[in-house]
Amino acid sequence: MAFNIAIDGPAGAGKSTIAKTLAAQMGFVYVDTGAMYRAMAYYFLQQGIAKEDEAAITAAVDGADVTIRYEDGAQQVYLNGENVTGFLRTEQVGNMASNTSVYPAVRRKLVALQQKLAETTDVIMDGRDIGTCVLPDAQVKIYLTASVETRAKRRFDELVAKGGTPDLKQIEADIEERDYRDMHREMSPLVQAKDAVLVDSSALGIDEVVAEIRAVVKRKL
Ligand code: C5P
Repeated sequence: MAFNIAIDGPAGAGKSTIAKTLAAQMGFVYVDTGAMYRAMAYYFLQQGIAKEDEAAITAAVDGADVTIRYEDGAQQVYLNGENVTGFLRTEQVGNMASNTSVYPAVRRKLVALQQKLAETTDVIMDGRDIGTCVLPDAQVKIYLTASVETRAKRRFDELVAKGGTPDLKQIEADIEERDYRDMHREMSPLVQAKDAVLVDSSALGIDEVVAEIRAVVKRKL
């Protein structure tokens, strides 16, 4: 059986940075499930479907073939044969993903894909429902979080570094809205799994968080 590490938590807690670093250090495959929800969202946007239109989204799910490949160790997301990885990290796609990930048809499809990936491969998978729903038997479960202020400030700095002029208050409001949606949706809401270890990264650097998680992994190996 493969060794699986599940990392869940709200947007901006540092999940992907931490998971990528850990995967490289440990020789595991990093699976970014948020990118899959973003690829589906990108497809719905391309189709001109409104985020509120659950019936149209449910009908469209079968037309979106999302697959994952690893090129030079990095996850690439393919949508109907086209590599869409470079189009997924925009606010528009993120907002659509946050809204359309509440629909059962979308979740069912992606959860099945994620479970298949983890069946035979040692993975570090990050998302919102990995420890509670996708990989309930994962050997290590981490719930990585940070305060809203810290997460908003990280996002703000990222956008400034890219040459933007973001509004910190607006980012905070967006993060709060996404947290609320993730935590209150009916199907597999974001919640700390009973057997997950809580790590709060508000006052920790990347190296400190990685070290803390590696210590948890060591106890399970
Ligand atoms: O993590 P990321 O911001 O890329 O995820 C995009 C959206 O996909 C999130 O806002 C969340 O609503 C959704 N998501 C989810 N379950 C996961 C991963 C992401 O619902 N396992």
